[in-house]
Amino acid sequence: METLIFSDLDGTLLDHFTYQSTAASKTLEQLISANIPVILNTSKTFAELGVINSELNLNAPFIVENGAATYIPMHTLKTQPRDTVAVGDYWVKSFCLPRLYWLKLLSEHTDEFTKCYRGFSTISVSTLSKITGLSLDDAKRAKQRQYGEPILWLGDEPAKTKFIDHLIDLGANVVKGGRFIHVGGHCDKGQALIWLTEQYRENFNNPSIMTIALGDGENDVSMLEAADVAVQIRSPVHDFPTLYRQFKVTQTKLFGPEGWTEAIQDILANKLLSHSTNKINSEVNHG
Ligand SMILES: [Mg+2]
Repeated sequence: METLIFSDLDGTLLDHFTYQSTAASKTLEQLISANIPVILNTSKTFAELGVINSELNLNAPFIVENGAATYIPMHTLKTQPRDTVAVGDYWVKSFCLPRLYWLKLLSEHTDEFTKCYRGFSTISVSTLSKITGLSLDDAKRAKQRQYGEPILWLGDEPAKTKFIDHLIDLGANVVKGGRFIHVGGHCDKGQALIWLTEQYRENFNNPSIMTIALGDGENDVSMLEAADVAVQIRSPVHDFPTLYRQFKVTQTKLFGPEGWTEAIQDILANKLLSHSTNKINSEVNHG
């Protein structure tokens, strides 16, 4: 175990428009047979990831709802990681309070805004499917959130700002997404990456396990800053978000899964190259 790959889904491993990952499938197969875990790190739910992991033939840990929790299949590590609970065949580490807490907070403290918004929990599967373009089955799985509540805003902008400020005062983390305002706890993809990597390093007694993160969006920044190698995937709909780090950052030429493949193939080729160079060097040194 030497390398962990953390990947966003929408706009990264999945095409922004078609949600297909075809361009990456050969590379994914290569990684699976090389025993390099591909750890999905996404805003999607546990229910959605169950389907996607099996479609992609992945059996690695994964991170749900923007860093809210990490699911580790029990066969992954030798011992139960600290602060986890057993859920089915997984060890689960939660990084923030459950959805019920935020639903209660919304219902008890947002009376003056009730006409201005609809929460996911009050939107039917068919309406959600219409709003998002998801199939009915996918919409059903998207609704099964465990850690936060996406809000569809119906009011004007000034009221929205007031609403968000009010929730922040109440201790919520509020993230503006493309279609929804996400209300939940303070967690992010980077924190989850750091925690999971630590579990691998301890478990395999290998502090030099390297991490590669790939993502296209603003919500990937924390994970891209935290990884050893950051790959920014080119998006057809927005610019690369700004990163503070300046080293070991790549921006792909290609979009989505094509860019994903381009970057992973480059890294694998360089790794092989540096391995063989190291080997040659050590052979030279040791005569
Ligand atoms: Mg994305």
